[in-house]
Amino acid sequence: MPIRPLPDTLINQIAAGEVVERPASVVKELVENALDAGARRVDIDLEEGGIRLIRIRDDGCGIAAEELPLALSRHATSKIASLDDLEAVATLGFRGEALPSIASISRFSLSSRRATDAHGAVLRVDGGKAAAVAPAAHAIGTTVEVRDLFYNVPARRKFLRAPRTELGHIEEWLRSLALARPRIDLRLAVDGKPARRYRAEADNPGARVAEALGPEFFGQSLRIEHSASGLHLHGWIGAPPYSRALGDQQYLYVNGRAVRDRHLGHAAKSAYKEVLFHGRQPAYVLFLELDPLRVDVNVHPAKHEVRFRDARLIYDFVLGALREALADSRAQHAAAMAM
Ligand code: ADP
Ligand code: MG
Repeated sequence: MPIRPLPDTLINQIAAGEVVERPASVVKELVENALDAGARRVDIDLEEGGIRLIRIRDDGCGIAAEELPLALSRHATSKIASLDDLEAVATLGFRGEALPSIASISRFSLSSRRATDAHGAVLRVDGGKAAAVAPAAHAIGTTVEVRDLFYNVPARRKFLRAPRTELGHIEEWLRSLALARPRIDLRLAVDGKPARRYRAEADNPGARVAEALGPEFFGQSLRIEHSASGLHLHGWIGAPPYSRALGDQQYLYVNGRAVRDRHLGHAAKSAYKEVLFHGRQPAYVLFLELDPLRVDVNVHPAKHEVRFRDARLIYDFVLGALREALADSRAQHAAAMAM
């Protein structure tokens, strides 16, 4: 075959392979966009575990009608403009890939209105083919509708699981987001019925932790707050003997972004080595904050992983912070027992 450039839709579908694994990935990308747009409230509507419909509505800044096609073009973003911006990126998104990818593998629509617009506008896209922008009634903010995910990519559709399983993935992702964003009002409706509500907790982030992980964890957790070398760690860690059979309550965030990091997971586990029975897993909700220049978030399109400049220092910092908190709580416990 001769060498030919790929058609745009196919390029987007290939990119979608990296970003969109299942309905939960779509929900993640769209809700992150809502948060980047400054939303205070996000409504998520699902049908059939998101396979039939995912609708995300926010009250964020909105998109100008004339920019709707741009929002759907590849590598177009309002979030960064230079390498310097990328290195210091503070938004959840920056690659300009999610919307075009999702629109290429679904029946898609993007409706929006800014505070300064007299009315809203909508752009519909079917399997990557866009219609013209049309006027539409819309409150201030943005709604994205994704219907029939993978309808035109049978190979991927085959890998979707039962709606209940897909819904489980979405709820788990939402829980991890809810922990990190206590000030955002998050509402999930499933097949037309309200299913989950995380109320905005302006001054009491602990209430969100109790809501998301249950009173059992919250009641047996220690508040942690530790700073050194420009690193700041805060959150809640399970107080032994509280522990889990699985690592299903281990939430780690770097600059507000949920990440999986084997290295830091190992640091946390080591801190608990002396205080948990063999085979038991610690539970924690930990937020690590540091200068964005010290961490690279552009490791994978889905951004689940990060790379630290001084990984060793950060490992020791997290290990030390947790050890200290656990030792303090043991000392307090012993003192209370002695009284
Ligand atoms: P990225 O988030 O990496 O910029 P996306 O493809 O997810 O890329 O979105 C493209 C652009 O569309 C964003 O940069 C933003 O300007 C705009 N956009 C997407 N979703 C929203 C939203 N909910 N509210 C306001 N603007 C949005
Ligand atoms: Mg995005």
